[in-house]
Amino acid sequence: MEKAVVLLSGGLDSTVCMSVAQKQGYELYPISFLYGQRHSREIECAKKVAEYYQVKKHLIITTNMDSIGGSALTANIDVPEGDENRSEIPVTYVPARNLIFLSYALGYAEVIGAEKIFIGVNAVDYSGYPDCRPEFIERFQQLADYSTKAATQDKREIKIEAPLLNLTKAEIVKLGVANKAPLELTTSCYRGGEKACGRCDSCLLRLKGFKEAGLKDPIPYEGLL
Ligand SMILES: [Zn+2]
Repeated sequence: MEKAVVLLSGGLDSTVCMSVAQKQGYELYPISFLYGQRHSREIECAKKVAEYYQVKKHLIITTNMDSIGGSALTANIDVPEGDENRSEIPVTYVPARNLIFLSYALGYAEVIGAEKIFIGVNAVDYSGYPDCRPEFIERFQQLADYSTKAATQDKREIKIEAPLLNLTKAEIVKLGVANKAPLELTTSCYRGGEKACGRCDSCLLRLKGFKEAGLKDPIPYEGLL
C-alpha cells in the first residue's frame, strides 16, 4: 500500500482531504502542528479524526510560530467578525504557514517513503490567503522537485495533491458526506470556544457551505444558530 502524508488541522477541509486520500487507497500518515495557535481545540479534533481513520501514526509537530506573531491566530490580536466584502487579506492569515507546514510534510514524506502529500487548501470559498491558491501549490511542487534527495538522486517525485482547490464549500461538504468523513469531529472556528462562534470568517464560510449543500452542520454553535 502506498503511503500519503495528509496535513490534518482538525478542520472541515483537511478532514475531507483525509477522506479523499483514503478513498484513493493510500495508507494515511496525518501530520498536525502545534504552531503556537491561541487555542488547542483544533489539535484535539485532529487527534479524534486520526483515531477515526485508525492511522498507524499521527505525527504532531511543535513549532513556535507565535514567536514570529503577526496573526490573530497566534498573537494577541482580536479575531474579527467575518466580512464577505473584505478586499484585503484578513488578520487571521498566519505568515507563511502553509509554506512551513508543506516543508515539514515534504521532509516527512521523504523519510517514510510517501509518494503524495495531501493538503486541503481551497481557493473558491476562502479568506483570500495567498498560500491557499493554485499558484502557490504549483510553485511549491516545483521547489519540492529541487529540494529532496528523493527527487534529485532517487528520481522519486513527491507529488502535492490539493483535491479541494477548485471546489466550493458546499461541494467540499457534499464530498465529505459522500466519503463518510467524520465532519462531526471537526472544528473550524477561529475563536476556539467550546461551541463554534458562528461569526468569524471561518464559521461563516463553513455555515454557508452546509446551507448551500442543503445539510445541517453536525457541530454545536453559540446562540440560536
Ligand atoms: Zn467562529
